[in-house]
Amino acid sequence: MIGKEIVNIKDYESIVGAETVQRVLDKAEPLRDLHITHINSTYYGGGVAEVLSSFVILMNSVGIKTGWRVLQGSPDYFGITKKIHNALQGSDINLSDRKKEIYESTVLENSIRNHLDHDIVIIHDPQPLPMINHYRKRGPWIWRCHIDLTDPNRELWNYLTRFVEKYDAVILSLEEYKKDLETPQLFFPPAINPFSIKNKDLSEQEIDDRMEHYKIPTDLPIITQISRFDKWKDPEGVIEAYKLIKKEVDCTLVLLGNVATDDPEGDKVYKSLLDECDDRLLILSHQDTALVNALQRRAAVVIQKSKREGFGLTVTEAMWKGKPVVGGNVGGIKYQIQDGENGFLVNSVEETAERVVQLLRDKDLCSEMGKKAKETVKSNFLLIHLLEHHLDLINSFESSFKIRNKHDVGQHQE
Ligand code: UDP
Repeated sequence: MIGKEIVNIKDYESIVGAETVQRVLDKAEPLRDLHITHINSTYYGGGVAEVLSSFVILMNSVGIKTGWRVLQGSPDYFGITKKIHNALQGSDINLSDRKKEIYESTVLENSIRNHLDHDIVIIHDPQPLPMINHYRKRGPWIWRCHIDLTDPNRELWNYLTRFVEKYDAVILSLEEYKKDLETPQLFFPPAINPFSIKNKDLSEQEIDDRMEHYKIPTDLPIITQISRFDKWKDPEGVIEAYKLIKKEVDCTLVLLGNVATDDPEGDKVYKSLLDECDDRLLILSHQDTALVNALQRRAAVVIQKSKREGFGLTVTEAMWKGKPVVGGNVGGIKYQIQDGENGFLVNSVEETAERVVQLLRDKDLCSEMGKKAKETVKSNFLLIHLLEHHLDLINSFESSFKIRNKHDVGQHQE
């Protein structure tokens, strides 16, 4: 039946209990009929689109009219915004007037096309950030930045601050990304939808089918990293680690990635790796969420060897499936993995190899860590938790902004 798989807040009762769901519904009640929009720069590929595709539906299920718009831009524009993304994570950037002109004028065009008269506007990441310059605010504007802001390029950050400080609140993924800003800052970790095709339970047969479809051999233990092809995810480092692991334990490595429309570097990184492929080292580029699910479930160990990571939903997704993750000791990964408890944090290729070998040799350790990993996600990183954080924030705005709520609407209609 069409629609039966649309997630409703009530579905979460089976995971977090009826009391938690009721608490969230109570917080949503005064906000019913608010009209909110999210704006980002791609419908798929990457963590932001992943969160929005489920989160927007969940917000509607508690009665908040929530939409999602995607910014349009030329390859030039996305080339520049990817440079901005990289520089926010610490790379150099030549912030020329030409780049600023293309960035700001593309945002202006989008602002002309989009008529935003919502009660609340939530802007994601730097691509649409300057939109705030082009509207008369009718309610709070929130900038939600998903990037690892540990060490942003100074010049760029100073340039962006002039936009950021026009917002009424900034949401960052971790407290350690806090910046020196006039604007109030909040810290909400992203979250996953446990019912989506990417995360729901799969039968062994369904997993086998996906493996067979992509000709992934299952006779040896599988280790995998699933990520956009991006230098910050360090796919080269994973391949180097795999070469060390192979000397100790025979296994298959699968690197799976997809390409986001707002990330023009992905294809180049993917192609640069292809020489390494053999029948035990697979480098796949597909947009297939069921394959992500199957691979995370079939893998003995999941790797996420990032050098920078705003949060790292791939880590959350694998942990939800009861997998031990060997993750780079950076950004949001170290917030999810408690080293030696529910996974391992690593700082080098050698350490990655060592920990993967340890796990491949010790099934009990894998299942013990995997169980704890799942509990971590259940208590902290499901979309119902993220929804509750947003409801608390929006409720807190009521005092400083005249947000139209059900009660006000009723009064107008009388
Ligand atoms: N992803 C996917 N297919 C792939 C690679 C990644 O669907 O081949 C998804 C992955 O499952 C996760 C998101 O893209 O939901 C990546 O989010 P994350 O926070 O890990 O990293 P980002 O790409 O946002 O830096």
